[in-house]
Amino acid sequence: AAAGPPIMVNSCTGKMGHATAEAVVRAGLTLVPYSLTGQSEAVAVGNVGVSGVPVELVGPEQRQAALEKIRSQYPDMVVVDYTLPSAVNENAAFYCDNRLPFVMGTTGGDRDKLIADVAASGNYAVVAPNMGKQIVAFQTMMEMMAERFPGCFSGYSLSVAESHQRTKVDTSGTAKAVVASLNKMGLQFGEDQIEKVRSPEEQVSRMGVPEAYVDAGHAFHTYTLTSPDGSVTLEFKHNVCGREVYAEGTVDTCLFLHRQIQAGAEKKLYNMIDVLSAGAMR
Ligand code: NAD
Repeated sequence: AAAGPPIMVNSCTGKMGHATAEAVVRAGLTLVPYSLTGQSEAVAVGNVGVSGVPVELVGPEQRQAALEKIRSQYPDMVVVDYTLPSAVNENAAFYCDNRLPFVMGTTGGDRDKLIADVAASGNYAVVAPNMGKQIVAFQTMMEMMAERFPGCFSGYSLSVAESHQRTKVDTSGTAKAVVASLNKMGLQFGEDQIEKVRSPEEQVSRMGVPEAYVDAGHAFHTYTLTSPDGSVTLEFKHNVCGREVYAEGTVDTCLFLHRQIQAGAEKKLYNMIDVLSAGAMR
C-alpha cells in the first residue's frame, strides 16, 4: 500500500461512504476491511464489497469489542464518518473516547456541541461539511473578496440558481454562504430568493446538467450580477457531477490529518480551510 494511514470508512453502505472507500482503494491506501454501521444493516447485509475488497459491517452493539481487534491490526488508522445527521454527535463521542483520529464529513446534528466535544477531548479531527476542495476554495475566495472590497457591487442586482437532485428539499448551504458574502459586497439578497431548480427538464435544458446526473447526484450553481444600467454582467458558476470530488477531497483530508499526527501538531481540530491552506492536495 502507498504511504499513508489505513482508513476506516463508516459507513460503506451509504452513498458517500462507498464513494470514499472506492477513492481510498484508488489512491493505493489500505481500506480497513471493517465498517461501523446502523444495526439493521449489519444484520441484513453482513458485508459489502468495495472495489473487490470485502468489508465486514459492525453494528452498534459490537463496535466497542470489534474495535479492540481492528485496532491491534491497524494501530495508526484514520476514521472517516459519512453517516446521518442523527448519528453525528454520538459517533464523534465514540471516536474521541477511543482516541481515534477522524474526519467528520457528515452534516447536521448539533454542530456547536460537536466542535466543543472534540475540542475538549484533545482528539485529532477534521470537521468539514463540504470536502470538495475546489468548491470550498471558491467559497472562501468570495468571503475574502467581501472582506477586502466591501460594497464593491453596490447597486447591482443578483440572481442565483442552484440545481440538485430532486430528493434535496432544502436550499444549498453553499449557495447560502456565497449569498452572505455577496451581501457584504453591497447586495440585499434574501436566502428565499435563491432559485431551487428541481425539475429534471429544466435541469437539463436550462442548467446544462448531463442526463446521467439528474438523479445520480449533482450540484450546479450560477450566480449572476448585473449593473443598474445592464451594461456590466459578472457570472460565477460551479458545477459538480457525482460524488467523486468530495470522496477525493476526503482522502486528501485523511492524509493531511495523518501528517499532523505524525508531526505531533499542537492544534488538534481542523476544518477544510486548514487542509487547503496546508496545500494538502495530491
Ligand atoms: P446515505 O443515506 O446514503 O448513507 C448514510 C449511511 O450511514 C447509511 O448507510 C446508514 O445506514 C449509515 N448509518 C446510519 N446510522 C449510523 C451509525 N450510527 N453509525 C454508522 N453508520 C450509520 O447518505 P449519504 O448521501 O452518503 O450522505 C451522508 C452524509 O454525508 C450526509 O450528512 C450528507 O449531507 C453528507 N455529505 C457530506 C459531503 C462533504 O463533502 N462533507 C458530501 C456529500 C454528502
